[in-house]
Amino acid sequence: MRNIKYIILHHSATEAPGDGSAVADAIMLNHRRRWQISFPNYVCDYHYMIGQTGKIFKGQPEELPSWHATNYRVNLESLGVCFLGNFEVNIMSKEQFNAGVKLLKELVSKYGIKSENVLRHKDVVSDITGLRNSTLCPGKNFPYEEMLTSVFSLFKDVGDDYPYKEEITTLYNLGIVLGDNGEMRPKNCLKREEGFLLIYRLLKFLGKI
Ligand SMILES: [Zn+2]
Repeated sequence: MRNIKYIILHHSATEAPGDGSAVADAIMLNHRRRWQISFPNYVCDYHYMIGQTGKIFKGQPEELPSWHATNYRVNLESLGVCFLGNFEVNIMSKEQFNAGVKLLKELVSKYGIKSENVLRHKDVVSDITGLRNSTLCPGKNFPYEEMLTSVFSLFKDVGDDYPYKEEITTLYNLGIVLGDNGEMRPKNCLKREEGFLLIYRLLKFLGKI
C-alpha cells in the first residue's frame, strides 16, 4: 500500500454552481486527458472533490498518486482534496465545510495522518520554484485553522486539557454521547429527553433492547 503521510487541500478556483457535478466532471475529463498517455489509469489530480452542498466526488483512487501538490515527493505520499469553488473570492458554505471535516476525519484516522501534515497547497514547498506560496490555492478565505480544529478535536469545546476528555471520547466512540453540532457543552444542564436518549443508547449498547 502507498505510504500516505499528507493531505493537501485545494480549491478549484472556479465557480461551482449547484452541487458541483458539472465542474467535477469537467475537472476529471481535463486531468484524464492531460495524463492518459503516460498514465492510462489516471482519473484526476484530486482524490476527492467536495461541492458547496456537501456532495463528495471520488476522483483518483487513494492507492494511486496524482500530480497536484507541486512537489514530486509530496505527490507520492499524499491525497489531494479539492473544495469546489473560488475561496480567493467566496466564503465556504457550512454544508461544504462540514462535509470536508467529515471526509478529512475519516482519511486522517484511516492513514494516521498528523495535523501538521494536513497542508494547504500554498504551504507546500514547490520543487520547481523552491518556494512556498508558489500558488494562492486554496484561497485566502479558505477556513484552514477552523477546519483543522474541527478535524483534530472531538468536540470544539472539549480541548486536550479537559479533565474528562478520555471518558467523553470513549462514550463518543461507543455511540452513547454524540454532542450537538460538534459541541459537548459539558457545563450545560441535561434535558429529560436527552436523559432518555442516553439511557436508550446505553441499554441498546448493553443488548437489553
Ligand atoms: Zn491547489
